[in-house]
Amino acid sequence: EAPGTEQELTDGFHLVIDALKLNGINTIYNVPGIPITDLGRMAQAAGLRVISFRHEQNAGYAAGIAGYLTKKPGVCLTVSAPGFLNGLTALAHATTNCYPMILVSGSSEREIVDLQQGDYEEMDQLAIAKPLCKAAYRVLHAQDIGVGFARAIRAAVSGRPGGVYLDLPAKLFGQVMNAEAGQKSLVKVIDAAPAQIPSPASVKRALDVLKAAKRPLIILGKGAAYAQADEEIKNFVEKSGVPFLPMSMAKGLLPDTHPQCAGAARSTVLKDSDVVMLIGARLNWLLSHGKGKSWGESPKKFIQVDIEPREMDSNVEIVAPVVGDIGSVVSAFNQALASGWTAPPAEWTKAIASKRDENVAKMAPKLMNNKSPMDYHGALGVLKNVIKDHPEAILVNEGANTLDLARGVIDMYRPRKRLDVGTWGVMGIGMGQAIAAALETGHPVLAVEGDSAFGFSGMEVETICRYDLPICVVIFNNDGIYRGTDVNSVNADPATTVFVKGARYDKMMEAFGGVGVNATSPDELKRAVNEAMASRKPTLINAVIDPAAGSESGRIGNLNPQSVLQKK
Ligand code: ADP
Ligand code: MG
Repeated sequence: EAPGTEQELTDGFHLVIDALKLNGINTIYNVPGIPITDLGRMAQAAGLRVISFRHEQNAGYAAGIAGYLTKKPGVCLTVSAPGFLNGLTALAHATTNCYPMILVSGSSEREIVDLQQGDYEEMDQLAIAKPLCKAAYRVLHAQDIGVGFARAIRAAVSGRPGGVYLDLPAKLFGQVMNAEAGQKSLVKVIDAAPAQIPSPASVKRALDVLKAAKRPLIILGKGAAYAQADEEIKNFVEKSGVPFLPMSMAKGLLPDTHPQCAGAARSTVLKDSDVVMLIGARLNWLLSHGKGKSWGESPKKFIQVDIEPREMDSNVEIVAPVVGDIGSVVSAFNQALASGWTAPPAEWTKAIASKRDENVAKMAPKLMNNKSPMDYHGALGVLKNVIKDHPEAILVNEGANTLDLARGVIDMYRPRKRLDVGTWGVMGIGMGQAIAAALETGHPVLAVEGDSAFGFSGMEVETICRYDLPICVVIFNNDGIYRGTDVNSVNADPATTVFVKGARYDKMMEAFGGVGVNATSPDELKRAVNEAMASRKPTLINAVIDPAAGSESGRIGNLNPQSVLQKK
């Protein structure tokens, strides 16, 4: 052993770790294996938090939501081919949802892959990732690791955020180079997501249109929540006096109980508004593409605030596009408002308020029913109060009926506290998002899960126990998908949408040392959730829901194609 030599050399492993640290990335969501096992070990030894999952898709969903919560790219680390493909779903999901994320995958040797000579886990990962993310890069030389990470970080967080793939062939990790040259090759990214100031003309145009409205509406999307411009947005909404409708993950940006919140009068405001200002929300399927029955007969003008210029006119004409980052745009709005503004006609705001009060009153008794087995409303009435008592808690939510009904019932009070299935309405985000939310924020997490949705990531209850995270999972167990009552009349197989009847998901948590509770009534549910919130112990509550309580596809049954030959 030659004294001194080791200090003078660095290698690919260490340069990757140093590049992450230099850029303030302190957490890696990973599943170990060839060729990245040692990278994970060394990263942990170097002081990074390396969180090991049981499946790459869950690690990826964790990284994506970490990006959403922190505005820094969440990093997911996987092995090659199958591990990479498992992570890719989450990378595509992050891109679709505008979450900054970097999927780092080990890969096999270029020479062998390109000649298709059959390497261990051979796959041209870069080519496969490219169409599914915002940018994709490969690093072949240790001296390019710094630049590779700099490009990945910039691509993930600048402009419209999204997913980035970074391909690191196994050979790269062992490559050595002079330590000092290595340090110099690293790049600390300056101003990774530069402010994008809107043009003054676009700001004026937008406010002129809004001012002339008789029935204006502001729609806040998760882009607005992501922007972390909470005070500016609150000031703008309140100063303008315009009613607002939060999209699912924008709930709590202003409290759902705010007097201007039109959440409980959604169909009325979509139909009857004459001017709609979208802030960080897209006119995609979740808003019926800005047209059709749910938007009513009367003509509508759209104002759209978005960082992505190509989002404008994507579905309908935008009469006042404002391209910029939401923080800069809304603060420009606020400056303009300071020199005079008239609140929208009281007739409009009163009409919304009375519709909202009417709908809330109609819902109230359903939420207080004490049926056993529970129906959705009886169980959700309990959870609504839990979040009211713990506004700092993060709500993770997926399922069909469990998602659609919880979204309406559970009021949110603070920004970025509701994390759900996002733009695709995908099932499987549950445990990954819950784990990242607990780790990144330190707050307790309440994960409200359909029994089917939970199944996609259920093995991660072991991860929750291993890291001793303050996560309470409530499974709305109705014995199946949509309902647990379907029957197959042709043979002995169970119907395609039903699961084992009376399953005890709570036992899964007990298997790993967490707390499991079987709750058959709202009272039992209440007691168990409150205990979990107080103890911060990993908890799974099997909430027994009437198998007949759900409806097909929750609120989006209309998206199912129908056969004219066969009636359901
Ligand atoms: P939701 O589903 O809540 O309606 P979407 O995901 O459809 O939200 O829309 C989010 C929008 O926010 C995207 O069009 C994205 O470009 C935009 N966006 C994300 N971050 C910012 C930001 N910092 N400033 C402006 N727009 C942003
Ligand atoms: Mg179910």
